Amino acid sequence: MQKPSIISFQPNILSSPIEYLTGISSIRGELLRKELSIFTFKDLLDHFPIRHVDKTKVDSIASLTSATDYAQVAGKLIHKQILGEKRNRRLVVQLKDQTGVIELVWFQGIQWVDKLLHEGHQYLIFGKLGFFMGKPQMAHPELEPYTAANASGKSHLEPIYPSTEKLKAKGLNGKVMAKFTQELFLKIGEKNLPENLPESIVKEYKLMRRFEAYRQIHLPSSDQQYQQAVRRLKFEELFLAQLSVQLIKINRQKTTRGLVFEKIGSLFNGFYNDCLPFQLTNAQKNVLKDIRKDIGSGQQMNRLLQGDVGSGKTMVALLSMLIAADNGYQSVLMAPTEILAQQHFNTIAGLLKPLPVGVALLTGSTTAKERKIILQDCAEGRIHILIGTHAIIEDKVHFDKLGFAVVDEQHKFGVAQRAKLWKKSTIPPHVLVMTATPIPRTLALTVYGDLDFSVIDELPPGRQPITTVQRNEASRPQVMDFIKEQLQLGRQAYIVYPLIEESSKLDYENLMKGFEEVKSFFPEPAYWISMVHGKQNAEQKETNMNRFVKGDTQILVGTTVIEVGVNVPNASVMVIESSEKFGLSQLHQLRGRVGRGADKSYCILLTGQKVSRDARERLKMMVSTNDGFKIAEKDLELRGPGEIEGTRQSGTLLFKLANIVEDKAMLEAARLSVEKILQQDPELTQPPHLPLLQYLQSQKTNTRWSKIA
Ligand code: ADP
Ligand code: MG
Repeated sequence: MQKPSIISFQPNILSSPIEYLTGISSIRGELLRKELSIFTFKDLLDHFPIRHVDKTKVDSIASLTSATDYAQVAGKLIHKQILGEKRNRRLVVQLKDQTGVIELVWFQGIQWVDKLLHEGHQYLIFGKLGFFMGKPQMAHPELEPYTAANASGKSHLEPIYPSTEKLKAKGLNGKVMAKFTQELFLKIGEKNLPENLPESIVKEYKLMRRFEAYRQIHLPSSDQQYQQAVRRLKFEELFLAQLSVQLIKINRQKTTRGLVFEKIGSLFNGFYNDCLPFQLTNAQKNVLKDIRKDIGSGQQMNRLLQGDVGSGKTMVALLSMLIAADNGYQSVLMAPTEILAQQHFNTIAGLLKPLPVGVALLTGSTTAKERKIILQDCAEGRIHILIGTHAIIEDKVHFDKLGFAVVDEQHKFGVAQRAKLWKKSTIPPHVLVMTATPIPRTLALTVYGDLDFSVIDELPPGRQPITTVQRNEASRPQVMDFIKEQLQLGRQAYIVYPLIEESSKLDYENLMKGFEEVKSFFPEPAYWISMVHGKQNAEQKETNMNRFVKGDTQILVGTTVIEVGVNVPNASVMVIESSEKFGLSQLHQLRGRVGRGADKSYCILLTGQKVSRDARERLKMMVSTNDGFKIAEKDLELRGPGEIEGTRQSGTLLFKLANIVEDKAMLEAARLSVEKILQQDPELTQPPHLPLLQYLQSQKTNTRWSKIA
């Protein structure tokens, strides 16, 4: 197959500086660059209108209601007057049609507008409608004399562009921006915005062509055309984003060799046959199969393991690390907090005791002396499994032969961080990322599109569903009595307080107040309580936590530091104070701390006085389901993709038009088409795919150029 030559950089009119457009002075150009990042003609084209206003019809004044957003009205000016002094000075005008009267107000440019308007004349006005004392009103409407020519309104939809106060002050309002765009379309044609999607895709999905879509999104001839234009450009965004993540994946597979672990040896088998404390669930077995296939393939594994809280991800990680050890390689297991790292260490070191496997824990509170020994043992290969916080990869930790890395309970572990791992050995280790709670599929596809996915969709047997209820302040005594009953049965309980910011004094005081209150309900020595929060040092946290883990205390009062991962199967009650202040995935994580043993467990969501609508929906969701996958979808829907932790910086979600919640089906379609194309033609060198290749190359050239400029 012959490769096409790299397309040379051809100056396209679209890369012209914005000042080349009539009406844009150097001052305006500077403003457009500063305020809207519009440098070139192409940037102006990518500055999409937020919406259009329909000026094709004239409203009667009587028909206007508080639900009307923008309105166009025609009528006779019956009265005008300048009122008020100084800053309060305003021009007030009454306009009357056959059905009623509307008031128009100007606070600026009063003199000028006053001269323009004449009592008894007819005007056509357009603007955002407001109501003042029950009467319709418009401030600073657009205005022109009412003539035979505009009697039935304008003939098209007018674009409204996002603008800023600074731009408006310099006269660069939406209307002017629309004029520039119009001007630009007179200069360019289809050759400047060539189709970049393969013809077969355009046909299959009945997409509007690219040039037409750009024109219609700015200056639509009808609402229907506008919708088609938006659909086309959204599809293009999603398609190109999928193309780029899938290309990353293909390139990585092509260029990076992977370690081959083909042996299942005495460590894995010894553990599996003699030490495994339970039978694996089918879901766990399937994931293990996925992993074994990957690590035996000669390609580097990059796998995302999703499973609900308590689905047993840790065991999958441990078994994988034993395979690595059987093949002579070391592993790291990284947890997001010290408490969790400590707990993983306790569990794993305990389970592996009968086997000749070196396990060590390295965290911020490891003493210098211990640290030195661990680092040396690690560098010389005596440690097979190193457990720690994420700091491990930042640190000066050297390995003899690092072969496998597990990243636990993490949403934020991006490409850049994974790349750091690679530097730890010549051939990059296999990477298993385990999420804290499920991620909606759309988000996973966009943020983690370059990874393979496995899902544990089954909980270990014998778990009883957690009963979740919402209670308000008035029920507090009953809630406390309920906890007492559970403690009498030998169970333990968590009581969690919100700590919005670790430094917030108010939250901290609430926690202390809460602690005192809990103590008064549960006095020593009948009851023992421990407390953990962010202001304690690692050692205090660990001591308090461990007292609860060992069952020395029956109640753990704390902040969300206990959120992730902690495993105390004997705990059966989770009380969440001010639960309206928590996000959905946080609530689900917290609830996941109970229901980990065979006992029936309960989650009680206490709420304060004020519960917003969104919060009410979150709580309702929590009460109605235990399914983390459903909750993750709802969370995304309520918060929007930009708000999901760790995705804000990722850049992959910065779509101009597409929205992964609303355009789920389109994302899926785009992903499938990309997959199909890349399977057939991973280099994109077949003629039907050349437009894509050319587009990708022109993008590269453009970024390079804009960086130089
Ligand atoms: P998570 O997926 O939330 O990290 P863990 O790995 O902490 O969950 O497992 C939760 C609990 O379930 C632990 O106590 C673990 O020992 C137990 N567990 C894991 N797998 C099984 C299984 N197949 N059968 C019974 N219990 C299991
Ligand atoms: Mg876990």
